[in-house]
Amino acid sequence: QLRSSKDLMDLENKHGAHNYHPLPVVLDRGEGVYVWDVEGKRYYDFLSAYSAVNQGHCHPEIINTLKEQAEKITLTSRAFYNSKLGEYDKYITEYFGFDKVLPMNTGAEAVETAIKLCRKWAQELKGYPEAKTKIIVAENNFHGRTTTIISFSNDQEARSGFGPYTPGFERIPYNDLKALEKALEDDHVAGFLVEPIQGEAGVVTPDVDYLRKAAELCHAKGALFMADEIQTGIARTGSLLAVCGNCTCEGHCERQEATYVRPDVLILGKALSGGAYPVSAVLADDKIMKVIQPGTHGSTFGGNPLGVAVAMSALDVVRNEKLAQNARKLGELFRAKMNEYIEGSKVVNLVRGRGLLNAIVINDSPTSDTAWNICLRLRDHGLLAKPTHGNIIRFAPPLIMTEEQLLDCVDIITRTLQEF
Ligand code: PLP
Repeated sequence: QLRSSKDLMDLENKHGAHNYHPLPVVLDRGEGVYVWDVEGKRYYDFLSAYSAVNQGHCHPEIINTLKEQAEKITLTSRAFYNSKLGEYDKYITEYFGFDKVLPMNTGAEAVETAIKLCRKWAQELKGYPEAKTKIIVAENNFHGRTTTIISFSNDQEARSGFGPYTPGFERIPYNDLKALEKALEDDHVAGFLVEPIQGEAGVVTPDVDYLRKAAELCHAKGALFMADEIQTGIARTGSLLAVCGNCTCEGHCERQEATYVRPDVLILGKALSGGAYPVSAVLADDKIMKVIQPGTHGSTFGGNPLGVAVAMSALDVVRNEKLAQNARKLGELFRAKMNEYIEGSKVVNLVRGRGLLNAIVINDSPTSDTAWNICLRLRDHGLLAKPTHGNIIRFAPPLIMTEEQLLDCVDIITRTLQEF
């Protein structure tokens, strides 16, 4: 019988495509901020499945909803109405303040959906010629892995060998308003697709007024401002959405806070289900969403009763347990503690982030294996994190963490760093 971590890793390596390079640890069980490997060792999860498990592993409310709905009906397809989807449509549009939602499953699918929506809106309502319709994106973006999305990536590993690429995109430097203004001089820009904080690029946080000004520039030229909040959204960065800036109301206000930048198209995924089921969504107002008509777009699983029941429960947890407030408070504590530590550190150059989406930059070249070795040692000390882009380690624990647990984690991290 195959039981040991080694056996199970060998099995994956032998029979699975090698499209990931996982940290060598085989997880078997999760609860809250903790996961256990097959040998029964417990770890703090400091990645949260790339921010999908904001509500913590196997949150009892979400799992109960999943079980109850799974016993009733799981999939109807959109060939028929189902008894959950209308309720969800109302719930999520009120929750985030948009007229309409288009339900999908994975993040990349939702981004593809937003791209299609943006192009069709520009061509049907603004009369842009198909061949000239353009979407602006940022350098070092990460929006997923489909053919169109990798077409506008500048990550050679993600792109190379997968051409021919989809045309119709222009890449500009991130956090550069002048570059955006220039790109918008083109008369056929349909929209600007951007991550409010670039998670995969290493938790790159733009200037405080970047998103607001970027949205204003887009609106002045009649282009859509599209926020990919798949990683940053749903309380991760200390507010309901990263575009909420300093607002801690968790989005249940009239959105009059000075910091809220309203995207024309909002893209969500990951924590929308608390990690219990793949659920993603594109939200927009009627004036944009009306271009989507029967036959133009769809998905067998998108809007299925199991997924949408889980998503409502996951969003309830975010609101009821005040996860945005907790992420903000613990994020400030985390950065303060880490900054105290790195003052005298030769190993870490910098800690950055917002809420509980943070990263440390290791004082070594991106091609070195120091960050990887630190993550191996963190694992040995009972905390799981993963390098992103060589010398950067992302820290993104579940948002249900307590202050005591966070301080325990800071202790593990700083003790580990001292070993390098
Ligand atoms: N967009 C952003 C900002 C992401 O971080 C991710 C995943 O990491 C995606 C899109 C793609 O999501 P998925 O892996 O569910 O397709």
